[in-house]
Amino acid sequence: MKVTFNPSCTRCPRLADYLKEQRARYTKYFNAPVPAFGDPKANLLIVGLAPGRHGANASGRPFTGDFAGKLLYRTLFELNLCTKSESVSMDDGLELLGCRITNAVKCLPPQNKPTTLEVRTCNDYLRGEIDELPNGAVIFALGGIAHQAILRAFTLKLSGYSFGHGVIHRLPGQRTMVDSYHCSRYNTQTGRLTAEMFREALALAKELATVSV
Ligand code: URA
Repeated sequence: MKVTFNPSCTRCPRLADYLKEQRARYTKYFNAPVPAFGDPKANLLIVGLAPGRHGANASGRPFTGDFAGKLLYRTLFELNLCTKSESVSMDDGLELLGCRITNAVKCLPPQNKPTTLEVRTCNDYLRGEIDELPNGAVIFALGGIAHQAILRAFTLKLSGYSFGHGVIHRLPGQRTMVDSYHCSRYNTQTGRLTAEMFREALALAKELATVSV
């Protein structure tokens, strides 16, 4: 059965309660499941982890206002995959070019950490987004949890596909997954991920997506 995103989903009790708390505390924030951003039929789907509290959860758009979004949108802009180098709010006029951005988990999780059950419960929505992609589409996994959520959406065994920065995985239905370390503050500040490494991995995903159009 095809599942489409439900903007008022409350399937995960812990996350629904947490969003309720945020609504009382941050009255101007979006505080709801954050939908994917960009053309559903784009050839490149970028999958993050989950909305950040004062970023996507506030703005209502993946990575918009999040620290991780600074590197992501700057790199997308450098690669001509979006029209502005900064993403600040839902109505800033930024457009994605040939790509779409979503999260493995659509609701803000406490401490930025969704549980395994929450990733599984939310997986229907990711599967629905993947199902909409054209043949030959490339999925760019930001971090190990996104990588696993993508495999789960394909009902593939996690053990058959090891996560590695810049690694290309061929998936069923002429789909390809490219892994990247998550562009989080932690990864960039510890030097695990440099801007150059990130650009290279995203450029690879773009190239594969373009070749297969
Ligand atoms: N913001 C998002 O939307 N997703 C992430 O994975 C991190 C920050």
